Amino acid sequence: MLKAPRGTFDILPPQSHKWAFLENKLRDVSKKYNFEEIRTPTFEHSELFARSVGETTDIVEKEMYTFKDKAGRDLALRPEGTASVARAFIEHGMAQGPLPRKFFYIGSMFRYEKPQAGRYREFAQYGAEILGSASPYSDVEVIMLAVSIAENLGLTGTKLLINTIGCPACRAKYRQDLISYLSQQRSNLCEDCQKRLMRNPLRVLDCKNPSCRKVTEGLPSMLEYLCNECERHWVKFREILSSVDIEYEVDKSLVRGLDYYTKTVFELVWPPLGAQNALLGGGRYDGLIEQLGGKPTPGVGFAMGMERILSASEKGERPIRPVEELDFFVVTQKSGNEDIPQRGFLLVSKLRALGLSCDFDPLDRSLKSQMKHADRLNARFVAILGEEELKKNVVSIKSMKEGWQKEVALDAIDTFVQEEVCHANY
Ligand code: AMP
Repeated sequence: MLKAPRGTFDILPPQSHKWAFLENKLRDVSKKYNFEEIRTPTFEHSELFARSVGETTDIVEKEMYTFKDKAGRDLALRPEGTASVARAFIEHGMAQGPLPRKFFYIGSMFRYEKPQAGRYREFAQYGAEILGSASPYSDVEVIMLAVSIAENLGLTGTKLLINTIGCPACRAKYRQDLISYLSQQRSNLCEDCQKRLMRNPLRVLDCKNPSCRKVTEGLPSMLEYLCNECERHWVKFREILSSVDIEYEVDKSLVRGLDYYTKTVFELVWPPLGAQNALLGGGRYDGLIEQLGGKPTPGVGFAMGMERILSASEKGERPIRPVEELDFFVVTQKSGNEDIPQRGFLLVSKLRALGLSCDFDPLDRSLKSQMKHADRLNARFVAILGEEELKKNVVSIKSMKEGWQKEVALDAIDTFVQEEVCHANY
């Protein structure tokens, strides 16, 4: 039997209704913060990710789904969204203003990772980006958006972890000192970190391996190396967070897995999720646009894992429970009279044309099983058409919620819908 590829999954009803509910919620909250939707291609030139996420990162080195197209171009399924947003920003000349631009996106990302609970090979992210603002107010604004999403979904007890990784100028010295310290302890580092040591020593700081943790425990942090400008930003950023009552914890080992970050980095974690408890991660990326060939433009944003948000919601105080109902189910009595299913089918299209959701049974089943089906679909009304109704040119309408049943003339169905159905809707 053919199965979905490892690390991917189908989203079936009723789970798909929860996804739709979440997506609507994300669009609503984004609107409140004045973020506009951007949709970029699912695949890009591989080079885009090498030049932004970074060639020495796990994402680019080990996890990208790359392929050549028939013309020999090197392409990659996008492993994340920020690089594409930055590429589009440059390609469409948005640096010319007006700035800042505030975007959000929703879409699938692809990473060849070891699948486990909360970690997949195709997963969906919601991301938000502000391009063209170096202000720490923008750092806080994206964090407020993130926190507000979690609150909206009833997730209490989230923890905001923050850190700063400085700018290329102050980080260079820190990087050098890290390399010389870590080199002395090389044999105590895990295999991955031994490889990372020279190329990406900051990543050693967030390795979860206990022996690496021990090595990095007493190390100086980036905070001790910040240049004046990065220090000012860091202080102001925390001041603004406190002014809007957002609690945070400084986590000096938080460095994030993507090379384009500068200054602020953050994660929002929800401890009950266990091992994969990061709901979202983000930070500032002031050099990214320039690195990709654009006019120097600062930026800040985050990406949130939608599978994680949904599984957190299931465990949270207000699990997403979208009420799925159908306005009408049209039931036709089984008989030799071909007119009945035909009239039923016309009634279905009429009700849909009036703006209602409506369904019917194409399988010619008994009245009883059609009623059962209507019940399963949570239909508010059932319209029954049989020999009797046909003779009188009426339809029997039963309210499944209130239990009453009445006959309505087929040519007065519009009035009935307006008075009884739409009225009951609002
Ligand atoms: P990143 O793009 O690595 O900064 O990740 C941002 C967020 O996306 C994480 O906090 C997770 O919620 C989610 N995420 C990242 N990788 C995966 C994955 N393989 N499967 C599911 N969610 C993921």
